[in-house]
Amino acid sequence: MRVSNLVVLVPLFVSLVANSAAGTETKYAARMESFVGAPCRNSNTPTLNEMIDWLIVSSKDDRHDSRIINRIEFIDQPESLLHLFTILTSYHDPFGKMDANVDSNPLHWSWRQFKKIPRYFSRSTSVIEAMQDIFGNELGVALLYIAARNGLNASHLAYNLEPHVGNPVPWDFHDLLKLYRVIDDFPPGSFSFSDKRFTRDSSFKEGIIGNAVINIYDPWLRIEPWFQEYAIAHELAHNLAYQNGLSLDGSTDWKSIGRWEELPPGTPNPNPVPIEDIFKGNWITRAPNETVSLYAQSNPSEDFAESVMAYRYDPEILLQKSATKYTFIRDSVFHGLQFLSSSDCGIAFNRP
Ligand SMILES: [Zn+2]
Repeated sequence: MRVSNLVVLVPLFVSLVANSAAGTETKYAARMESFVGAPCRNSNTPTLNEMIDWLIVSSKDDRHDSRIINRIEFIDQPESLLHLFTILTSYHDPFGKMDANVDSNPLHWSWRQFKKIPRYFSRSTSVIEAMQDIFGNELGVALLYIAARNGLNASHLAYNLEPHVGNPVPWDFHDLLKLYRVIDDFPPGSFSFSDKRFTRDSSFKEGIIGNAVINIYDPWLRIEPWFQEYAIAHELAHNLAYQNGLSLDGSTDWKSIGRWEELPPGTPNPNPVPIEDIFKGNWITRAPNETVSLYAQSNPSEDFAESVMAYRYDPEILLQKSATKYTFIRDSVFHGLQFLSSSDCGIAFNRP
């Protein structure tokens, strides 16, 4: 199995869970006030027209081409938009890899796949208009924009053919754009996504809000708006551990800093975290006072994601709990950039 496949599988075991007696104030790394008021927040949700303009301008110097993709005929379209259409409407396997054979050779489709091939229909020969015909005026544009700008594939159609993981459903346009309330809170270049899954999924009706795959589940729809943003940022934070083939959250250094030990399966955990999470494993930290939240006490991965969240949105808490974790996150994830006050913002976001 290729390394990138393993990297995709690992986040399946880290999920954000909602159903606990603990309030969000102590359960997660940043309180509402500190999250909403954190320095250097860069949120700028684009409008529909801004997204269309951006797509046109950013592709205007492309080579243009005419060809049929997934039964739609395109004429004289920018190469980058044709590529985006392909990844947003083609079958991806459970590891998130696009299967080029599915489109080029339908004889290879299984009957189950064939039955579930969406009946794309568009009278337009332009990528943007075809996307609007297939996904709706707003969502069609947003999917192109997010894939182009951030390398995230939020199309349910890319992931809902058999065999698949979960039950992807279309994003609500306004819900999807909540991504832009948080993704630019991280310094430019933090994420190097390419065709990375970012789906709304209806597999879980209760409990699990999301995971680092990234899937966002139905309970996310019912949490407060600020916490919806927090949840997206938390799942993005997990992905900061998996950049460049690394697994920072499972590294010896990180586990040693957090004094993490994995108990053999079935061994009674003397310090069970009071949070229900079927995926958290049987981990115990010998330094629970150095974690930023109850949720961080689940396992080294949640400790990492929550420490990143505290570093970004409530850094004093992380400094107070563990200066060693603060330094680790500062140097390994944020390349020295800090967010202790708004005077740090210029350094963080106005780099050439
Ligand atoms: Zn998590």
